[in-house]
Amino acid sequence: MFGRTLPQRRAHRTAAFAAAALVASAAAWAQGYPTKPVRLIVPFAPGGTTDIVARIVAPAVSASLGQQVIVENKAGGGGSIGALEMIKAPPDGHVLGMATVSTTAANPAINPKIGYDPLTDFVPIINIAATPNVIAVHPSFPAKDYKTFLETLKKNPGKYSYASSGTGGIGHLQTELFKSLAGVFMTHIPYRGAGPALNDTVAGQVPIIFDNLPSALPFIKDGRLVPLVVAAPQRLSVLPNVPTFKEVGLEAVNRMAYYGVLAPKGTPKEVVDKVSQAVAKALGDVTIKKRIEDTGSLIVGNTPAQFAAQIKAELEVYRGVVVKQKLTLE
Ligand code: GLU
Repeated sequence: MFGRTLPQRRAHRTAAFAAAALVASAAAWAQGYPTKPVRLIVPFAPGGTTDIVARIVAPAVSASLGQQVIVENKAGGGGSIGALEMIKAPPDGHVLGMATVSTTAANPAINPKIGYDPLTDFVPIINIAATPNVIAVHPSFPAKDYKTFLETLKKNPGKYSYASSGTGGIGHLQTELFKSLAGVFMTHIPYRGAGPALNDTVAGQVPIIFDNLPSALPFIKDGRLVPLVVAAPQRLSVLPNVPTFKEVGLEAVNRMAYYGVLAPKGTPKEVVDKVSQAVAKALGDVTIKKRIEDTGSLIVGNTPAQFAAQIKAELEVYRGVVVKQKLTLE
């Protein structure tokens, strides 16, 4: 303050008051949030894990926020189309998006033209759950276990194709990593989400799928898909006979997926906190917790800062994979 003239001091005080008033009015406004239904964009087709997790939590979050949370599927581009739509929405918390490892890490790592920066264009709110991944085959595929699967692929380079939730998604990148580390070749068939990818695999159109466990599990339980290897910290109690990637010597592929909530950049902290608390409360509900855990997933429920750090770390991992394995979109 020293050395300022009287008019300068007055101007400084007025600016400080104006800034404080803005913060106060944003806080007051956020207290009234939400003032209308909230759209929750799922950047993949119905039937995939993103859709499953969103629809499990949405009703409880609606109840907490006092406004309907409407789940909207905007599929395509490995999740980038839905992510871009969410980013362009007004940052007032009335349009939120489901965060996936594909849209926040894998796809941005491989696609320089994706059109957004996952570290600056989103405000992470909460990571809901971590989910294992699985490579599964149609029952007509000539292998029922990982060892035979690998031998079959090695004997028949290029004969088989695999389905994924989209170009640049975790299913695509992790299978390309698997191919390169295991020394095998399969043709990639991308879909607009794991839902349609599963439909075609179960129908026998594509023999192999890399999927996140929650969407694949019902088909595995019905015997319509055969699980061969999972990405999980240890063997899963629902699939005790299926080895992890780590066990078969492919630790780099042994990474889980995640499903959370984010908002466009510029969303007020008060709104972020309100949504974060509403989702965390939903995860504390025993029925919801059980429904998520029954899919083979682990509840996370972390803070916005923890989720932001996690996204940053995962982006680095996938950037490393892309560079090291020289993966491209072609
Ligand atoms: N595999 C996608 C991901 O983890 C989700 C696929 C889907 O929900 O259809 O990002």
